[in-house]
Amino acid sequence: DRLVSATEKPLDDAPDHAIRPKRLADYVGQPRVCEQMEIFIEAARSRREALDHTLVFGPPGLGKTTLANIIAEEMSVNMRSTSGPVLEKAGDLAAMLTNLEEGDVLFIDEIHRLNPAVEEVLYPAMEDFQLDIMIGEGPAARSIKLDLPPFTLVGATTRAGLLTGPLRDRFGIVQRLEFYSVEDLAHIVARSAHLLGLSIETEGATEIARRSRGTPRIANRLLRRVRDYAQVKGDGRICATMADRALNMLNVDTHGLDHMDRRLLMTMLEKFSGGPVGVESLAAAISEASDTIEEVLEPYLIQQGFMMRTARGRMVTDQAWHHFGLPLPSTES
Ligand code: ADP
Repeated sequence: DRLVSATEKPLDDAPDHAIRPKRLADYVGQPRVCEQMEIFIEAARSRREALDHTLVFGPPGLGKTTLANIIAEEMSVNMRSTSGPVLEKAGDLAAMLTNLEEGDVLFIDEIHRLNPAVEEVLYPAMEDFQLDIMIGEGPAARSIKLDLPPFTLVGATTRAGLLTGPLRDRFGIVQRLEFYSVEDLAHIVARSAHLLGLSIETEGATEIARRSRGTPRIANRLLRRVRDYAQVKGDGRICATMADRALNMLNVDTHGLDHMDRRLLMTMLEKFSGGPVGVESLAAAISEASDTIEEVLEPYLIQQGFMMRTARGRMVTDQAWHHFGLPLPSTES
């Protein structure tokens, strides 16, 4: 199993509601997003209106769901959650929409995976707060129109590029989440440790932060594993040495790359001489879905400067050759 996987939300995340920030003031990092959202929320609140529909995009585990929750909390409304693949039929969405109260937040995760028939229902709902839906089939079919209370749709997606144009155009606010800096992640780790009643040194938090792939969900997960290690191998206190030993044991390297990251890079280096290689060939070579490469693996590797996207495919950078202690290939070949 992939310890640093950011996609699945395993049971391990269950006690997460204790550490998930509830207010904007507790949302660490993402200064541009926070500054804008603070203004938009305050303005909507003082006009007593629902906040504009908001699209949040960024790699898994960066805080999209958390931000949706915060919006609902700050607007003092309820949040209903669902996700693109769960809404199979237009009726599934209609049921959610008709249950909304004025101003509520409807959160749709993985909104790029909405079925087109469901998406059609969403357009008038977003634009005019109108539900326009056919029920029944054949001669008995009839269309129903209903007024909906004004609400805020918060859509989350790992890749904004996969959204259809008409859907994207209906969001008044679009926020892109970036990978977190080590300082911000250290802050998150220290905050979580505090909320979990753990004893941690600043250097310990920084070591975990450095190796968390820029991702809060991973930072929190690594914190739990380091806690276990410190509890069994030490006196429970998390210092830099304890964190380092625990993370080495877990095979998380000093850049936060895990075995999947390393396998991807090593495959590019060894099988494809560093590239360029198409994402489909790469996916086949490491037996992963190309979506996983594009949504989970490569965003961080690109951000960290280990690989890049070119018109001819993916290529590793010199830094990747160095990281694995391999000599740079000669340029004439
Ligand atoms: P996403 O929806 O983007 O996959 P989540 O919102 O579920 O990610 O975030 C994963 C976890 O990381 C949250 O449960 C929360 O504890 C933590 N987290 C995310 N963003 C922040 C943040 N800005 N500050 C503090 N903790 C955060």
